[in-house]
Amino acid sequence: MGGTFDPIHHGHLVAASEVAAEFGLDEVVFVPTGRPWQKEDTEVSPSEDRYLMTVVATASNPRFTVSRVDIDRPGPTYTIDTLRDLRRERPEAELFFITGADAMAQIMSWKDIDELWSLAHFVGVTRPGHELPELDRQNVSLLEVPAMAISSTACRNRVRAHKPVWYLVPDGVVQYIAKYELYAGDAGSDGAEA
Ligand code: ATP
Ligand code: MG
Repeated sequence: MGGTFDPIHHGHLVAASEVAAEFGLDEVVFVPTGRPWQKEDTEVSPSEDRYLMTVVATASNPRFTVSRVDIDRPGPTYTIDTLRDLRRERPEAELFFITGADAMAQIMSWKDIDELWSLAHFVGVTRPGHELPELDRQNVSLLEVPAMAISSTACRNRVRAHKPVWYLVPDGVVQYIAKYELYAGDAGSDGAEA
């Protein structure tokens, strides 16, 4: 499951857990993006902070792991490179790529779309406020998951407004955000969700 994870929240974790249960996955690899090409005009927190929050959030689940492939690769992150790297590390694995409804809708605009379909099975999960596109492809599945009306953008805005993010993100992530004073600055241009 790729994402900016700025910060990781319970919407991500529920989606991952549901897909893992439904498809009998041995492992869910969370892959924080390097520089997301869709978010080049917005401020994104340092990769190390996003990586560490993802580690903190997933540490208690034996099936959840975090990969550095995207944050260690220079340049903008493209999912095709993520999947190639994961494939290289796990040549025997059957790969599933988990996305929310909003990301699924954008998928057709992604780089090297035909190779993408050949590298992984895509699972699109429901997300409140976003329509799941009808994609008539053999290696695409759509899955309804418990509705979590949470976005990282809303979490960042809440921190800036001194509102709590308890129970929206895991406890350790609340504490990480406070400890390193993330999202403390002005709202600036970072109001848009992507
Ligand atoms: P931002 O507001 O910064 O864009 P986000 O909450 O959308 O953050 P991302 O890191 O952009 O989180 O999302 C990573 C992946 O998780 C995407 O595929 C996205 O669709 C999915 N996702 C995020 N939030 C939810 C949610 N509440 N329910 C289901 N899927 C989600
Ligand atoms: Mg998003």
